[in-house]
Amino acid sequence: MNGFNNIGVVGAGLMGAGIAEVAARAGKNVVLIDANPAAAEAGRDRLRTSLERAEERGKITGVAEILERITVGSDLEALADRDLVIEAIIEDEAAKTALFARLDSIVTDPEAVLASNTSSIPIMKLAVATQRPAQVLGIHFFNPVPVLSLVELVPSLLTAPTTTDRAREFVEKDLGKHPIDSQDRAGFVVNALLIPFVLSAIRMLESGFATAEDIDQGLVRGAAHPQGPLALADLIGLDTTKAVAESLYEEFKEPLYAPPPLLARMVDAGLLGRKAGRGFYHY
Ligand code: NAD
Repeated sequence: MNGFNNIGVVGAGLMGAGIAEVAARAGKNVVLIDANPAAAEAGRDRLRTSLERAEERGKITGVAEILERITVGSDLEALADRDLVIEAIIEDEAAKTALFARLDSIVTDPEAVLASNTSSIPIMKLAVATQRPAQVLGIHFFNPVPVLSLVELVPSLLTAPTTTDRAREFVEKDLGKHPIDSQDRAGFVVNALLIPFVLSAIRMLESGFATAEDIDQGLVRGAAHPQGPLALADLIGLDTTKAVAESLYEEFKEPLYAPPPLLARMVDAGLLGRKAGRGFYHY
């Protein structure tokens, strides 16, 4: 058993395209799959643009070679020969458990690891959908993946220590990122702290306490945050923010995790943030 060289990524959205990019930049062979062929194409375009920008800024060279290492498609069977598959589909427990069961039957190497980039769904729920719970864990990246160095490693109660060790080596040595360890609790370390903060800002806006601009400027200028909580929600995606809040609320039953009605209405309206062109701000 050694390092991971053939990486699969499922879900070519904001996160999946970023994970595929950093893995290919680290010299790995990558297969990126999205159930929706248009989303797969959009992921490929986003990835190419991101690599070209990094090259223009002098951060990387050899974009053509990096792109050659990435195959994009919509058929999960293309993941059969992978030794690590990272799932980054929508934050929906039923969709993720169904996918883990399918990946378990498709990926042939008995030692292959199945990882999830979930922000909040307990890893155990995904592990028990497979016949290999010892080789399932959370490898949680942050957005934008090529920029932010943090990765949370989340073993479940059934994850084998060797699985976590292999994942740590991949994250630290291959990708050059900084892993932190979290127990398998909804939200892990960062979102358990960050999401209630974002939800408080949404409640503040909803109650007319202050404008979106003033709430965000308050945190940027008064607390040296790189961006305010409402701009951050737009970056994360309001659908994802709401889904993470729901998982946290489901786990801890604390009112501070309950999604405020304004967030729910914005998601109903399709005002999902940056990726939709409008959220708390226009893009
Ligand atoms: P996204 O909406 O941008 O992309 C999700 C993609 O998954 C879409 O392209 C969709 O077509 C695809 N998909 C849906 N169901 C599928 C299936 N069954 N099989 C294959 N593809 C499928 O979402 P995102 O922001 O990239 O988030 C993906 C995951 O990463 C979620 O679990 C989310 O919680 C997590 N995450 C998100 C962020 C963030 O800031 N957005 C940060 C860390 C982790």
